[in-house]
Amino acid sequence: RVVLPDGTEKVFHTQGEVTADEHGKPIRVHGTLQDITQRKATEAALSLTEMRYREAQRIAKIGNWEWDLATNGSWWSEELYRILEEDPNEYPATFDNFLVKVHPDDRAALVEGQRNVTAGPEAYPPAETRLVFDDGREKIVEQLVQTRLDEHGQPIAVIGTIHDITERRVLEGRLRESEARYASTVQLAAVGIAHVDLAGRFAWSNRRLQEMLGYSEEELSALTTRQVSHAEDAHVTDPDRARLHAGEIDTMRVEKRYVRKDGTVFWVRITSALRRAGDGEPLYHISVIEDITGQKIAQERVHYLATHDELTGLANRALFGQVLDNAIEVAQRNERQCAVLFIDLDRFKIVNDSLGHEAGDQLLKEIAARLPRCVRRSDIVARLGGDEFVVLLDDIPDLAVASDVARKILSSVLAPVDIMGHECRITGSIGVAAYPLHARDAATLMKHADTAMYLAKEEGKNNFQFYAADASPMSITHLVLESHLARALERREFSLQYQPRIDIATGTIKGTEALLRWWNPELGTVSPAQFIPLAEDTGLIVSIGKWVLKTACEQNVAWQRRGLPEIVISVNLSPRQFRDPALLDDIAQVLRETGMAPGLLELEITESMIMHNVDLAAAKAAAIKQLGVRLAVDDFGTGYSSLSQLKRFPIDTLKIDRSFVRDIPENADDRAITETIISLGKALNVTVVAEGVETAEQFAFLLAKACDEMQGFLFSKPCHPDALVELLETIPVRARA
Ligand code: C2E
Ligand code: MG
Ligand code: MG
Repeated sequence: RVVLPDGTEKVFHTQGEVTADEHGKPIRVHGTLQDITQRKATEAALSLTEMRYREAQRIAKIGNWEWDLATNGSWWSEELYRILEEDPNEYPATFDNFLVKVHPDDRAALVEGQRNVTAGPEAYPPAETRLVFDDGREKIVEQLVQTRLDEHGQPIAVIGTIHDITERRVLEGRLRESEARYASTVQLAAVGIAHVDLAGRFAWSNRRLQEMLGYSEEELSALTTRQVSHAEDAHVTDPDRARLHAGEIDTMRVEKRYVRKDGTVFWVRITSALRRAGDGEPLYHISVIEDITGQKIAQERVHYLATHDELTGLANRALFGQVLDNAIEVAQRNERQCAVLFIDLDRFKIVNDSLGHEAGDQLLKEIAARLPRCVRRSDIVARLGGDEFVVLLDDIPDLAVASDVARKILSSVLAPVDIMGHECRITGSIGVAAYPLHARDAATLMKHADTAMYLAKEEGKNNFQFYAADASPMSITHLVLESHLARALERREFSLQYQPRIDIATGTIKGTEALLRWWNPELGTVSPAQFIPLAEDTGLIVSIGKWVLKTACEQNVAWQRRGLPEIVISVNLSPRQFRDPALLDDIAQVLRETGMAPGLLELEITESMIMHNVDLAAAKAAAIKQLGVRLAVDDFGTGYSSLSQLKRFPIDTLKIDRSFVRDIPENADDRAITETIISLGKALNVTVVAEGVETAEQFAFLLAKACDEMQGFLFSKPCHPDALVELLETIPVRARA
């Protein structure tokens, strides 16, 4: 390089020659100096172009190649080598060398293309080809091929580009995938999604929403949200939407009802946001719509469960309390009356004990289904628990309505129930209390109705009683009762009363039933209907029963010692006593100690005791008979014994339950039942006793049907032993008269 005085630089090419003498000694050097500045500049420019060209290829990942048809030689650009991952110095640029890099499935197309390359300037359409590398990696390249022609239009070379589009494809694939994922998420989402335009139309909706509403995409796009809303809910979103548009809230959430194409209604929860343009102008709503019908149903169910009895589906105590409060309020305002009927099933425990809880449940359900049919639709029936039901008679003109309903309920309860193949009959006892006559608040009203119900129980069950302040039995809690009962025996609070059994044909006293009485200084007189079940539950009945047995036998012996005629004494046995393993010993001991003839003792058991473990009960009964003691079935007709089971028991007496006798002769059912029991007794060759005979009509009926004996107020209430002595002396005379 030579720097000229003006600072420019020139490049020269020098070439020299040395001239030597005969000895070979150099004597002269001469040479040429060629100014190659211009050439150098061109060369530099060229290599820059070349470099730029290479760079461009590298950046674009496009390589190119040439195939000279005359020489059959090929040339590959540096970038093409890079794409093929080969070294230009080692890997000859031949078609075959390219082909080995191509995915086997794509080779045929290339070979076929190569054969046609000379056909025209654009023999190949752009094509995608897969390359495979030794390590299994793949690249995707896009090829463009052209044929170069000479001035005569003859092909002289084929040229082409190879564009590595692997990365683009990967990105494209990812994008496609994420788009697909998004689309399927939106489409398959368990929630409905919609773009709702400012006119309220479903501009766009996902499949789930279409399914929810039962419209096709097209149908739905023509509808507005209001058109699919339940008429009552058409405006529930308005306030929130206004706030959303005003920018006061970002999202709104409402619950409303939508109506499907088929007209069915369902609950949705809608969460909406407003999509705005860059300038803040609202564009459309994005709404997520969830079907919350299931949740709503669950909520309602929870509310239902909290207010209803699960077994029967009737209102429960809580709901009844609310309704009663409300009814009293209304009655007060309008100066009207309302009444509460407290219904308790009689001897429900028997069903449970003898037929099992499932049967008990079934019976309760059946009774629960019957009760509402006895009242107006506006009246409410609830189950308080166990076998206790309660009815509210709202807005009644007078108490006669309550009596009518009570009567209706009694006969509806009495209708036979088929339970697991058994035809069961159950009765109920009803207590009635009315607002404002008996009480002015709900709690007192309920308490009085309950009290009245106990009165009904005392009156022999299967009847109804109005609350009466003076006649109220002890309405005390079980707990108080229990604590007193536990000490009643040692405090000598028990006594026995005796009710005679009369021979219907002759009018003579054949026997007497010992009935337990409890008088407590604090509680006063407590009815057996109240304390016997409690004594049974607590087990106290065993010791109390033993006392009854002994006292009754002593009494009978005492009467005989006074020279009175020999009579049978009946003693009631409770289920617990009957099951007590010591029972036989106790009886034998009492007989021994009192010296009473075993044939003068009759033990009363109930049907349920027979039904409960029949084999064991039959053995027990046989053992009792073995002692020479008589056996009676008490309250017959209210239990569920079957004839075949009854036959296995060595029974002497059947006592027709008082509830059947009471409505004789008016009630045809009761007449039929009583008559049937009498003939059954005859068939079994046992004595039939009618209980609770109060009227001359009942007596006439029983006489006509040849019932053997009777027991009831018509002849005598249960009475003090001394009073019985009097009766024993006088009644036969009176009866004959
Ligand atoms: P039960 O064995 O069926 O006794 C007959 C019940 O009917 C007695 O009620 C009696 O007073 C009543 N009665 C008799 N005639 C008439 C009548 O004409 N009209 C009316 N309305 N009632 C009449 P009580 O004394 O209240 O006894 C009720 C139940 O308590 C008895 O029914 C019996 O199951 C049980 N009970 C009584 N004493 C004992 C006992 O010592 N041990 C056991 N385990 N239970 C007893
Ligand atoms: Mg009895
Ligand atoms: Mg009885």
